[in-house]
Amino acid sequence: RLAALAAFRGRPAVTLEGQLITLEANIELPEDLPLVTDSGAEGIGLYRTEFLYMNRTAPPDEEEQLKAYTRVVEALGGAPVTIRTVDLGADKTVDGSYSNASVATNPALGLRAIRLCLRKPGLFRPQLRAILRASARGPVRLLLPMICTLQELTQVMALLEDCKRELKRQGLKYDPALPVGAMIEVPATAICAEVFARHLDFLSIGTNDLTQYTLAIDRIDDEVNYLYSPLHPAVLHLIHRTIAAGEKTGTAVAMCGEMAGDIHYTRLLLALGLRDFSMHPASLLEVKQVITESDQRKLTGLAQQILECCDLSEMQALLEQINEGLP
Ligand code: PEP
Ligand code: MG
Repeated sequence: RLAALAAFRGRPAVTLEGQLITLEANIELPEDLPLVTDSGAEGIGLYRTEFLYMNRTAPPDEEEQLKAYTRVVEALGGAPVTIRTVDLGADKTVDGSYSNASVATNPALGLRAIRLCLRKPGLFRPQLRAILRASARGPVRLLLPMICTLQELTQVMALLEDCKRELKRQGLKYDPALPVGAMIEVPATAICAEVFARHLDFLSIGTNDLTQYTLAIDRIDDEVNYLYSPLHPAVLHLIHRTIAAGEKTGTAVAMCGEMAGDIHYTRLLLALGLRDFSMHPASLLEVKQVITESDQRKLTGLAQQILECCDLSEMQALLEQINEGLP
C-alpha cells in the first residue's frame, strides 16, 4: 500500500473532472523537513514555530530564529513557507518565566498566542524581524494565530511596518510584500470572516481550536473527548462561511487543522469548497489519492445536504455515502 501511495508523489492533486487542489505540509521543527520532501508537498502551509520556544528558559533570539526559518525556506527551494508566529499558552506550555500564560484558570481562553505576543513586544519583535529577514531568501507567508479582533490585526500591522522600517535603516533585506494571513480558529473570527478577509492576504482554518471553541470542549481533556468532533453542524457552518468569505473577496482560504489530513473528511471538505489543504506530511499522499478518486460535481451538490444535517447519526450516514469506495 505504501508503494502504491508513493506513485502519487509526483502527480498533481486533481479531482476526476480536473479541479486542481493544493496540498501543503504542517511542520513543527526544521527536523521535519525530510518528511516534507518525501510527501511531495507543494509548500509549507503551517510552520508551528512555538516548538522553537519550548523546553528552555529563554526564548530563541532573532539570529537563532533566522537560522531555523532560513533552513526551512532554503530546503523548500522556492515553494512557499507559511510561518506562524508563536502560539504559546494553553496546550503549548513553556517552562521558562518569559510567559505568564500558564497561571490563568482557563488558559485556552487566556493570554495565549497573538494576545501574549502583543502584550510582550520584546518577545514578538525579534520573531517578526526574523520572519521578515527569512522572506528575503524565498517565498514566505506570515500567519497569525488566534486572531479575534480587527484591533489585534491593526496592532500587528503597525509593529510589522515598524520592524520593516528598522530593517531598512539597518540595510537588512526582506520581502516588502510579505503576505499576511490569520488563522480562523475562534468562532467570532469565522463569523466575521469576510471582514478579516478584506484586511488580509489569506486565511487558514484551524479546526483543532475552532472545534474546541465552537463546542466549548477542551481539546486536551480526555473526559470530554467523546464530544470533540468537527462533524458538528455548527463547526461545518463556520468552515463553509469562511470558505465562502474567501470566494466572495478573492482571498485564498486554506485549512491546516487536523481535519485537513483525515481522509474521512477529504470529500466532505471538497464539497464545502475547500481547495487548499495543509496537514502532517505523513497523511499527504493518502489524501491526494482520495482527491484523485473524487468527483467534484457530485460533491458540490452535497454541500447543502451536509449543512442542513443536524443529527450526528444522519451525518455519519451521509459521510459514509460520500466516502463510498474509500478504504
Ligand atoms: C488548529 O487549531 O487547528 C491549528 C492548526 O493550530 P494548533 O493545533 O497548533 O493550535
Ligand atoms: Mg490552533
